[in-house]
Amino acid sequence: MDALTDLDRRIAGCRACPRLVDWREEVARTKRAAFADQTYWGRPVPGFGPPDARLLIVGLAPAAHGGNRTGRMFTGDRSGDVLYQALYDVGLASQPTSVALDDGLELYGVRVTAPVHCAPPANKPTPGERETCRSWLVRELGLLRPTLRAMVVLGAFGWQATLPALAEAGWSVPRPRPAFAHGARVALDGVGGLDGLDLFGCFHVSQRNTFTGRLTPEMLREVLSTAARAAAVP
Ligand code: SF4
Repeated sequence: MDALTDLDRRIAGCRACPRLVDWREEVARTKRAAFADQTYWGRPVPGFGPPDARLLIVGLAPAAHGGNRTGRMFTGDRSGDVLYQALYDVGLASQPTSVALDDGLELYGVRVTAPVHCAPPANKPTPGERETCRSWLVRELGLLRPTLRAMVVLGAFGWQATLPALAEAGWSVPRPRPAFAHGARVALDGVGGLDGLDLFGCFHVSQRNTFTGRLTPEMLREVLSTAARAAAVP
C-alpha cells in the first residue's frame, strides 16, 4: 500500500471531532428520502486522485448527502456534477460524472481533497474543527510535495483553512495573507529546497454560485485549465 492510500485509510477512521462524528453518523442513519435504500458512507471522506498528482483541488468539507453518502469528495451531489464535468471537459478526468466509489472514474494528474474531511452541520465546520482536521491536510500535502505544483481552492472558507496548512507543509505564505478572489493567482515559494507552488482562487462550485451564474462552467474551466498548465499536467 502506498503512503497516500495508507493516509486515506487512516483519515476514514478518524473520530477526533465529536460534533462531526455525531452529525455524519446521524445523517447516515436518517438519510434523505431519495436515498433511503442506500447505505451511507457516514465516515470522514478522504481525498481522491493519484499519489503523484501535480494539481490539487481543495473544497471545504464533504456534503451531508454527497461525499458523506458516497465516500468520495464531491460525489453524488450537484456541486460535484459541475466540478467533474469541468474536469472532464479540460481533460483531467476519464468521465464527466462522479456518482459512486465503483463508477470507474479516474483523475489524470489531479487530486481532490478538503481541509475538513467530515460533513459539518449547515456546511459550517467550527474554527476548532478546522484546526483539528488541518493536520490531515498537512500530511497529505507532505506526501504530494514531490510532484505538487499548483492548487485550486474553491471558495473563501476553503482558502482561509488551506493557507495555514500550506505554511505548515513547507511553502512560504506571505504576510498579510493573500486575499481570496475568483481568479486570484499567488506564487508560493518552497522553503528548504522545496519547489514552489501556484495557488489559484475559484468561486466554490456550490449551487448558490452555479445556479445564479456567479460561477459559470466557462469560468471554472478557465481556472482549471490555467492551473493545469501551471502544474504542467500532461
Ligand atoms: S473533521 Fe477531520 S479531524 Fe475531525 S473527525 Fe473528521 S477527519 Fe477527524
